[in-house]
Amino acid sequence: MLLDNKVVIVTGASRGIGRAIAVACAKEGAHVVLNYWGDNDRSYGRLSAVEEVVDEIETLGRRVIAVEGNVAQRKTGLELVKQAVDAFGHVDVLASNAGICPFHTFLDMPASVYEATVGVNLNGAFLGIKEALDVMRQTASGSPSDGAIINIASVSALKGSPGMPAYSAGKGGLRLFTKAIAVDFARRGYRIRVNSIYPGLIDTPLTKPLFESRLKPGSEESLEDARSRILEQYPIGRIGRPDEIASVVRFLAGDDSSYMVGAELVVDGGLTAA
Ligand code: NAP
Repeated sequence: MLLDNKVVIVTGASRGIGRAIAVACAKEGAHVVLNYWGDNDRSYGRLSAVEEVVDEIETLGRRVIAVEGNVAQRKTGLELVKQAVDAFGHVDVLASNAGICPFHTFLDMPASVYEATVGVNLNGAFLGIKEALDVMRQTASGSPSDGAIINIASVSALKGSPGMPAYSAGKGGLRLFTKAIAVDFARRGYRIRVNSIYPGLIDTPLTKPLFESRLKPGSEESLEDARSRILEQYPIGRIGRPDEIASVVRFLAGDDSSYMVGAELVVDGGLTAA
């Protein structure tokens, strides 16, 4: 198997793309550390969502732990790495996936929302990598495989998204942050490869507010109509599935991508090629 006995940390793994990444890695033999936000909104079902992922991975015969915490806070990165080492002794792969996407144009964007968005989508990746690097270097030094850090960005890092300038700022920053540390770590001989992925529209709970934001005010349009209008921009003619991102993460996590450093893989059904 591609990731036999590797330990993979996935942030934002209670649903959507993060869940698919965790399951895809477990199917390739990895043990998994799941992170999720788990704020106070239990009625939203967040806790039960991560429990489902735990069950799914255990059913695959892999070991798994779940660690609650906001990636925008330094203590979450510390806790994730501590619990990973306590449970498994090493860390091979970090997939920085946790993200939020509030919809506000620049003019109606409260500064607090801007800061929170960049805090999760950009600073969250920085903080996780900062805490995991030493352990990942030790792991790589005793392994025939390199460690891998995979940052989940977005097509919003490649083209301007007027309804989400904070999201574009965070993801655009994540793009070049990824390249900067990828080059640095490679030149230092750390044996930790860092790469990033740019999903287009993927069918997860994150997209509902996007469709809502595109409803024409006062019209009888349904969410389905708004969704169809957005999808017209996609040459492939459909929304993506979380597993179509997870399979690319799996590739970047394993030795099949051993010569890839600072690469950006666009997985968007042709949106940015058109
Ligand atoms: P999602 O379905 O909304 O899931 C987001 C996940 O991130 C959940 O597990 C959530 O945990 C967690 N999370 C949110 N804020 C967090 C925080 N501060 N700390 C820790 N965990 C946090 O989103 P998704 O669509 O799977 O998106 C995953 C990543 O892909 C994001 O970085 C997103 O920007 C990116 N992306 C998505 C799309 C798309 O169309 N879906 C396109 C491009 C890029 P809780 O459940 O506990 O809140």
